[in-house]
Amino acid sequence: MKYYSTNGKAPLVTLEDAVIQGLADDRGLYMPERVPHIDSDIIKTLKDRTFIENSTIVAQAFFGDDMDADALAEIVSDTLSFETPVIQVDSDIYSLELFHGPTLAFKDVGARFMARMLGYFVRRKGLADEVNVLVATSGDTGGAVANGFLGVEGVRVFVLYPKGKVSPLQESQFTTLGRNITAIEIDGRFDDCQALVKEAFADRELNSRMQLTSANSINVARFLPQSFYYFNAYAQLDRMGKANDVIISVPSGNFGNLTAGLFAARMGLPVSRFIAANNSNDVFFNYLQTGQYIPRPSIETLANAMDVGNPSNFARILELYRNDYQAIRQMISGFRYDDGQIAAAIRRILSDTGYLLDPHGACGYLALEDYGLKQGQTGLFLETAHPAKFKETVEAIIGSEIDVPNSLKAFMNAEKHSVALGSDYAGFRAYLADNQAPPPYTANRPS
Ligand SMILES: *Cc1c(COP(=O)(O)O)cnc(C)c1O
Repeated sequence: MKYYSTNGKAPLVTLEDAVIQGLADDRGLYMPERVPHIDSDIIKTLKDRTFIENSTIVAQAFFGDDMDADALAEIVSDTLSFETPVIQVDSDIYSLELFHGPTLAFKDVGARFMARMLGYFVRRKGLADEVNVLVATSGDTGGAVANGFLGVEGVRVFVLYPKGKVSPLQESQFTTLGRNITAIEIDGRFDDCQALVKEAFADRELNSRMQLTSANSINVARFLPQSFYYFNAYAQLDRMGKANDVIISVPSGNFGNLTAGLFAARMGLPVSRFIAANNSNDVFFNYLQTGQYIPRPSIETLANAMDVGNPSNFARILELYRNDYQAIRQMISGFRYDDGQIAAAIRRILSDTGYLLDPHGACGYLALEDYGLKQGQTGLFLETAHPAKFKETVEAIIGSEIDVPNSLKAFMNAEKHSVALGSDYAGFRAYLADNQAPPPYTANRPS
């Protein structure tokens, strides 16, 4: 399978090159040339197989032409060393808990898969030289990527984060690891971190000297594997006899997670409709209302992993539906919630059902309520993070303390290391250039 750029001005590339490059040379996002189809006989029997078995089938359908089957199966099983259970919250509303991985958020799935796949390609190509992953984080991505890539040979990771703007718990997940992970504390805001990373990707001279790639959901190896847990969720609902008419609500920021769901549906997974649940960053919600896509600077909310004003995967959604606004509206509904609504929902659902939502999952839950499920429909929302990841926020909302899992406490007790830099590009560039090994990987790079 080949991959093309959403901007249409870059050559087709192999999976290997799409993963190593991250972003296409024309700054577009890579899309698979076709979406493979999973046979309806297999869909009917998803319920009889394990998460790893079903995910291996999906992975083979996408990536099977481009890599050794045993290696791919091993990547899948190493990635999915934790469960993603479906839990009933209310009569027809179920939570898909995606927070049982090492950093307690759904990004663990994509980050772990990408780390293993990139490591495999680096080995297979016999690259003499390291691939450098740059990632800007406002909190969650850094932890998932750093933990996913820890110890992967031939890959070095630089996590850029805004000084003083990441919770101590989140910070500890990427500043305490060492080895091939370097945390860079930028004296600035998240937008400054993102701008530095973008400028480095666009810097031709720097790219001719070192291979840079992205581990954000623009990378196909991070975003496509997120379709695995949609299949697994369907399998679990089917076992309960609840899979006939499924509506899936996805708390969304950069829309990688939702787009992976749309791919699952296009592959043949029976999902009646998706809901994009937003916080006050409602650019996509407005697009569904008006057909106009108007990016805006992000605003801070309680669900901060969704504070995105220009979702990068919007380009993939447009591409998947060939720019057909009506087709997009037929498949995706949108809702948005402000901080007051999020806080009220967390309190109400806890007292009504005993289930503690995190601020992101709260948006997903509310959107199912407001959508109005009909008799016989099943609502499933993606619970994207463990509430303890947002301990201070959630405790302030519910007025009592919550338990922090031991795995999180372990990060908090480890020693922090980071490199302090300003927000100017020259300083960042000089730092990168001094901390890499020559000569570079050059396939498909313009000279
Ligand atoms: C990243 C994140 C989101 C948003 O996911 P996208 O794929 O960017 O839409 C939602 N919730 C949590 C907890 C996250 O970390």
